[in-house]
Formats: sequence, C-alpha cells, structure tokens
Amino acid sequence: MGLVSINIKTGSVDKSDEVVVGIDLGTTNSLVAFMENGRPKAITGEDGKHTLVPSIIHFDEHYGIVVGDQARKKLVADPTNTIYSVKRLMGKSYNDVADRNGFFGYKIIDDDTESLVKIRVQDRYYTPVELSAAILGELKKRAEKALGKKVEKAVVTVPAYFNDAQRQATRDAGKLAGLDVLRIVNEPTAASLAYGIDAEGYDKQVIAVYDLGGGTFDISILQIEDGIFEVLATNGNTFLGGDDFDHAIVEHWLATELRDVDMADAATVQSIRIAAENAKKQLTTSETFETDIAGRKIQLTRSNFNSLIARLVGQTIDCCKNALADAKIGADQIDHIVMVGGSTRVPLVKELVRQFFGKDLHDNLDPDEVVALGAAVQADILAGNQKDILLIDVTPLSLGIETVGGLMDVLIPRNSKIPFSAGRQYTTSVDGQKNLKIAVFQGERDLVEHNRKLGEFVLKGIPPMPAGLPKIDIRFMLNADGILKVKAGELRSGTEQEIEIKPSYGISEDDMALMLIQSIQNAQNDLQTRALIEARNEANIIILSADKFISQNGEILSNEEIEQIRKLVGKLSEAVSGQDKDLINSSMEELNTYTTPLAHRAMDFNIGKAIKGTVV
Ligand code: AMP
Repeated sequence: MGLVSINIKTGSVDKSDEVVVGIDLGTTNSLVAFMENGRPKAITGEDGKHTLVPSIIHFDEHYGIVVGDQARKKLVADPTNTIYSVKRLMGKSYNDVADRNGFFGYKIIDDDTESLVKIRVQDRYYTPVELSAAILGELKKRAEKALGKKVEKAVVTVPAYFNDAQRQATRDAGKLAGLDVLRIVNEPTAASLAYGIDAEGYDKQVIAVYDLGGGTFDISILQIEDGIFEVLATNGNTFLGGDDFDHAIVEHWLATELRDVDMADAATVQSIRIAAENAKKQLTTSETFETDIAGRKIQLTRSNFNSLIARLVGQTIDCCKNALADAKIGADQIDHIVMVGGSTRVPLVKELVRQFFGKDLHDNLDPDEVVALGAAVQADILAGNQKDILLIDVTPLSLGIETVGGLMDVLIPRNSKIPFSAGRQYTTSVDGQKNLKIAVFQGERDLVEHNRKLGEFVLKGIPPMPAGLPKIDIRFMLNADGILKVKAGELRSGTEQEIEIKPSYGISEDDMALMLIQSIQNAQNDLQTRALIEARNEANIIILSADKFISQNGEILSNEEIEQIRKLVGKLSEAVSGQDKDLINSSMEELNTYTTPLAHRAMDFNIGKAIKGTVV
C-alpha cells in the first residue's frame, strides 16, 4: 500500500506538474496556500492584497450563489438567504445545535433528532457539506486563476477536536468541489508545520497551539516524535473571541462617553461597533485611539482597553490550565508556543500567554494565514517534493459497510495512516430483527453498487427487540500488513462475529486510480442520490412512528386530528415514492409541525395516567 497520487485527467499515476494546495476552511474566513520556491504562500484574490475569503454564501432568488466578500455585503440586507458559520454545523445532528438555533440568522431544520442538520434556503434544503463545498469551490477557482493551471488536489485542515463524522463531512465537501482531499490535517498541527517545528531534531517536543479567532478560542497540546504529531489534549470556548473584545469596548463607551446616544438609530449603533473594532486594531500598534461618533469625540487608551479585556483573556488562560492538566503536563514542559488567529495580535494576549508559559512565542507569521501555510507545507510533502521526509503507509481507498438504501458508510477514510482502527454503532430497522447482514465495501462512491465488495457475513442471534433498540457495534481494524479485520457485536446480548479480508488483494493501482476518478466525476450526482435516499430513510421512520402514534393514542386524538395526520402521512408517502428530496423534506417538516403539540399532549396525558396509577 502507498499513497495513490493520480492525474485525474489522464488517469495515470504520475506526479509531474501537479499542484497540491493547502486549505484552511475556517468558521469566519477561509484561505488557500501553495508552495512557491520552497516557501508556503497564501493566495490573494483579484485585488492582489486580501488572502482571506469570508466563509459566507449568499443565494439569490434563483438559487444562484456568491461566496466571500460579495456574500458578506448581504449579511445585513438579506440575512435569511446569507449563510455563515457553516463549519459549526458540519457533521452535526439537530440535537447538537438545537439550543443554538436562535444564534443563526437562517433556518436550520430537522425532524428526526438523530440525523444530520439541513439548512433551508427559500424552498430548498442544503446540507453543511454542500455549503462547505461552495466555499472550497471558490478557493479552488481562486487558486487556479493565480497559478494558471487546474487544481485538483488539496490538504484541508480541521480543528483537532473534530470527530469522524465531521472529518468525513469535510472530505465529502472537498470531493463535491472537485478536489481530491489527500489528507485532513489538524489545524494546530498545520500551524506547527508552518513554523517548521517538525524538522527540529529527533527529540520529543511538546507544543501548545493557542488559537484565538473572531468568535472561537482553542488551545491544543501536541506532542511530536519522529515527525508524527499526536494530540495530547484540547480545550477552548466556542463562543469567545475578538468579537467579544469589540463588544467590551462598545459597552464601555455606552456607559461613559456615549451614555446619552440614541440607540434606536441603527446607523449610529453600527458606527459604534465599527469604531470599536477599529480602536482594537489600532491599539495593537499605538497607545491611543480617537474618533468622532454622532458628533462626539471619543477615545480609548491601550491601558483602558487592557483592563476591559483582561477578564476575557484570563478565561483563555484558564482553558490553557485545563488542557495542561488533561495532558498531565506542566506549563514549563512546553517546548514551543504557536500563536494562531487574528486576535493573537492583541498585545495583552501575547503578554499574558508569554507570562503563563514563561517562554517566547512563535508569532512572526501572519496569524490569520498560518494554518493554511502549514497545510501547504503538508501538501508539498504529500506531493513528494520534500525528499527527506518519509511518507507513512496509508490506505488508498475508503473502507466501509452498506447501510439502509444501499448507501456506503465509510469507517476508514482513504489515506488514513495504518494501522488504523475505527468503530461505529448501528441498530436494526425492523421490529424483532434477529440477524444483520454486514457487507464490507471498498471505494469512494456514495452507493455501494458502484464500489468494490470485499466480503459479507451475518451477525446472528440478536435477541428480539423493537427496531432501533439493539446496539450493534461494528469495528474495523486495519493492521500494518493491510489486513482488515471486521468485528460485529450486539452489546446487550454479547453476541459477536468477525471476518478477515485483505482489501488490496486482486486490485491494481490502475483500478484504484480509475475508482478515484469516477468518484470525483460523479460527486454531484452521487450526493444528490445520497440526499434523496437519506430523506427517504428518514421519512420512512417518521411514517412508521406516525402510524404507531395514532394506534397508541386513539383516546386523546379527535377524529379531525387523526384524519389530518393521515392526510399528511399520505402526502409524505407520495413524496417518498417520487424523486424530489426537497418535497420529502418539506412534507416531513409539515407533518412534524402538526404532530409536535399532539405528542406533547399525549405525553402529559400518559404521565398523568402513570401518576394516578401509582396513587390507586
Ligand atoms: P480570525 O477569526 O482568525 O480571522 O480572527 C479575526 C479576529 O481578529 C477579529 O475579531 C478581528 O477583529 C481580529 N483582528 C484582526 N486584526 C487585528 C489587529 N490588528 N489587532 C487586534 N485584533 C485583530
């Protein structure tokens, strides 16, 4: 096994003249970088100055999209059609984001609490993967324009704490944008690579990566040994960043110089907010700031500003302490401190971080670009341009199992370092199901029928339970020799079964290259098919539970209500037999909206009955 690098156009496994770019797909901003004369460089837009692309997407009334600065201009004028912070939704279920729904200006929907969120734009439903693909597509376009050639391969960064689902979602977004994602790299690892920390001798080094952006804070403690990075601990606050510094300044002015300003005037409020951010930025290099707002002279000194934000910066230091405690390491054992994110430009931030770790900081690269620069370094290594760095063995094609509707569920993504082990829990879809067929596939397509079947076995002896109750754990273990062991077990009963397969047996490098090419060529179609099958699966579960609901709660539902539920179920069933996923989604939403209050009523009634039952 090795790293399969293919020329997408010719299908040949050839490495000449290919560029692999590094991409930082951020919550607020994204950017793309590449290696030029042995140094990583961030790519600018047409103005030749700005490297940051705001991670914002705007839809017009015909669902045409623009991404970046153009989209940002629509945030205030057209908030419901302007999508931001998509990264916060990657790989998330509605349950994960339910309490944050009010935070987004646009509509996040889901009916089934376990499935992944969708974003509603007018009458269409988009997944975070599709929206992230739009951002990646914009970066790809930008890189192609600047480099004058096609860009089809990339290394993309994600936060160290991203789970498998979030990483897979990021890979899928790349594929959809026409990019072969050679590797997903942790953001703190990329930042360390940008500072060349991996190349410093062979001794074990411990690195703290302090990342303070506009809206989030992350601290990661990494260990590097023989060129391999390991995350020891992460900590942070997903709602703390430079925006809070701006907010502290606004509050201060409103309590002092601007005490009697007219807050009902939107333009004034907006200009105060902008002045606050300007003040913050200017105080990075000067000691004082002065401006005019609503005819009044206002000012702020660096020491004023420091006292306004000291508590917030203190909170980030508390996170650092927690991360060190989790990693079981003292602050004095950290060899390197790497600064990432626009807000690490603030002098007080640097001062307090330096004081806490008692060491000089790595802060001479642009903190907004450092992650993308490191991704470009990693990309260059993968492209085989850094001869002195050894590539570790990876699995060339994804490995997974077939799930409902013939979908491929990937457990080990392609290009994972081996040995590699991954597991996930599944359940049954039919009441009383005793056996579960586990079919193992290899490949990059969304439908297993387009992938390569490696083998299958049946897990027998699942004790009869209602659908959804059994907990079936499926584990893939790929060892250093490329042998895959697949183990399945039902956790409640302890029943277990396993097989061993050699995925590379009987497949040539050319076959693998062809499978990759086809997966990228068909990405758009595959995604649509997957979305349709997933919507159908979700709808079928909802239809079953609506039927159950009627039969169990006949006594508290009126005839009109039963009639109406049946009508909406009928409409949903009809949608399920069609090809329009948006119609399935909107019919589900309609049924769900109608039944939610009825379900609450049924619950209150049943609780009441249960309480009475205990009294008698
Ligand atoms: P990021 O999310 O990493 O792009 O960080 C953006 C944050 O960095 C925003 O809150 C900006 O206001 C802040 N920022 C950008 N430039 C400066 C600067 N010169 N001084 C202080 N904060 C800055």
